[in-house]
Amino acid sequence: MKLSLKYLILAVAMLALVLTLVSSISSGYNVQKKSLIDMTLETNRTYAQKLSSTTDSFLKMTLQTLEVSADNLAQTMIERDIDSLTIEAERLTAQSDTFNSVLIVAKDGEILATSPKTLELQGKILNSEGGIQALKERKAFISDPYISLTDRLIIFISQPVFDEDNKFIGLVGGSIYLKEENILQDVLGEHFYENGSYVYVVDSTGRIIYHQDKDRINDFARENPVIQELVKGKSGAMQLVNSKGVDMLAGYAHVNGADWGVVTQRSTNATLVPAKDMMQEMIRKALPFLLVSILIIIYISNQIANPLQKLAHYAETSTQSNQEEEISQVRTWYYEAIQLKRALNFSMNFFQDRVNFYIHQSTTDPLTKLWNRRSMDELLKKWTDQDKPYALIMLDIDKFKRVNDTYGHGVGDDVLKYLADKMQKMTREQDHCCRLGGEEFVILLPKADEKTAYDVAERLRKKLETTISPCGEIVTVSLGIALFPDHGRHPKEILETADTALYEAKRTGRNRTVVSTHTPTHDATV
Ligand code: GH3
Ligand code: MG
Ligand code: MG
Repeated sequence: MKLSLKYLILAVAMLALVLTLVSSISSGYNVQKKSLIDMTLETNRTYAQKLSSTTDSFLKMTLQTLEVSADNLAQTMIERDIDSLTIEAERLTAQSDTFNSVLIVAKDGEILATSPKTLELQGKILNSEGGIQALKERKAFISDPYISLTDRLIIFISQPVFDEDNKFIGLVGGSIYLKEENILQDVLGEHFYENGSYVYVVDSTGRIIYHQDKDRINDFARENPVIQELVKGKSGAMQLVNSKGVDMLAGYAHVNGADWGVVTQRSTNATLVPAKDMMQEMIRKALPFLLVSILIIIYISNQIANPLQKLAHYAETSTQSNQEEEISQVRTWYYEAIQLKRALNFSMNFFQDRVNFYIHQSTTDPLTKLWNRRSMDELLKKWTDQDKPYALIMLDIDKFKRVNDTYGHGVGDDVLKYLADKMQKMTREQDHCCRLGGEEFVILLPKADEKTAYDVAERLRKKLETTISPCGEIVTVSLGIALFPDHGRHPKEILETADTALYEAKRTGRNRTVVSTHTPTHDATV
C-alpha cells in the first residue's frame, strides 16, 4: 500500500489528539484519585480516633458502674445474702445493657450470684482465665478475651470488693460475649456505614475482639501492618493490602483504657468509584469534541494534501501536453506547495522547450531553416491520407556547380540561403518551402490549382532573374510543377512527375517553369 501524505497527516494528527485526550483524562483521574485517597485516609483516621475515645469512655463508665456496685456490696457479701446479691447482679445486667452476664464472686473464687440465673454457675468455683486473673489483681480489671466456663469467648470486666477494713473480700464483674449480641456492637456498630467501610477492634496481642463479620472475631492478624502499629500503641492512617489481599485505606487509633486498637477502613476500590465515574463522564463529554476534531483534522489534512497530491499527479503524467493550464489552477495556499508548483511549472517549461528544440532540429534544414526532406514527406503523406489537393513546385539552381567553383563553397551556401529567403517571401503563409537536398528545393501549395502554382513559380523565377545574388551575379532557377491528385496519386509519383517537369525545363534551356503533363497511374499503392 502506498502511504499518501493525506493519511500520514491524518494519522499524526489523530495520534496527537488521542494522546492529548488520554493524558488529560488520566491526569484528571490521578488528581481525583489522590485527593480521594487522602480524604478517605484522613476521614478514617479521625473516625478511628473518635471511636477510640468513645470506647475509652464506655470502658471508664462501665468500671465506674461496677465500682459503685462494689462499694455497696461489701455488707451483703459478708452476710452471704444470696438473694440480695442476685438482685444486684440482675440490676447490673438490666440497668445498662452493658453486660451479657454478671457474676459476684467471693475472695476464694466461689460464685455467689449470677445473672442471668440460667448460667447455673452459682456455688461453683470461678476458674476461668479472666476470673482467676481478676481475683489475683484485686483492682479494676479488663481481661483479654478468653473462653469462659460457659464456653463462650468473652471479656471480663470487674471491680474488687473491700470490707470496712479495706480487706479484699471478692469481686463484682460483668462479661461481654464477643461472638453474641453485645454492647460493643451498640458502641461501634452504629458507625458502620454501607459504603464499603467497616470497623474492627483488636486487643493488645493483635487478636480481633470486635468485627462486623463475627467469624473474624478471635482471629489474629499480626502480619497486618495496621495491627503491628496498634500493638506498638500508635495511631494514624495508611494504605495497605489486608490479609485477604484487598487494598484498603485504614485509619487506626489506640484505646488507652484497655490497650486495644480501633481500625476503621474502606477498600480503595470503593473509594475510587467517584474518580472512575468522573473519568467515564469526561470520556463521554469528550466524545463530541473528539468527533468534531476528527472532522476538522480530515478537512485540514485534505486541504494540505490536495495541492501536493495534484502536483504529484501532474508531475507523474508530465509527458502529456496542455498541463500548464491545469497546474496553474491547482490552489496552492502555503509556502511549500507554492514553491513546488513553481518548480513544476519551471521544469515543465524547460522540458517543453527542449522537446520543441529537438522537434525543430529534426524537421528543419540547418543551413536554410526550411523544412527538411523528412518533414516534407510526412506532410505529403498526411495530405494524401486526407485526400487534400495540393501543388508541388520543384526547383533547382541553374549551373550552381559553377558558382561553387568560381566563388567557393561558402558563397555557394550564401546563395542557397538567399534563395530560401526569396522562396519564403514569394509564397503564401499556408505554403511550405522545403530543401530536398543539395541545391534542389520544393514548394508545397495546399489547395492550389495549376494556375496559382504556375504564377507562384514564375513570380519567384522572375524575381531571381532580376536580382543580384550574394555571389555578385544573378542566379536563375528551373522549376517543374505537379499537382495532386491531377498528376499523381501518391507523394512518390508527384515528386517524380515534378522532377520530370524540372528536367524538361533544364533540357529546354533553363530559367523556366514547366507544368507536368503526366497522367497518373491507376494503382494508388505504387
Ligand atoms: P544544372 O543543374 O543547371 O544542370 O547544373 P549544376 O551545376 O547545378 O548541376 P549539378 O546538379 O550537377 O550540380 C550541383 C552542385 O551543387 C554540385 C555541388 O557542388 C553543389 N552543391 C550541392 N549541395 C551544396 C551545398 O550544400 N552547398 C554548396 N555550396 N554547394 C552545393
Ligand atoms: Mg541539381
Ligand atoms: Mg543545378
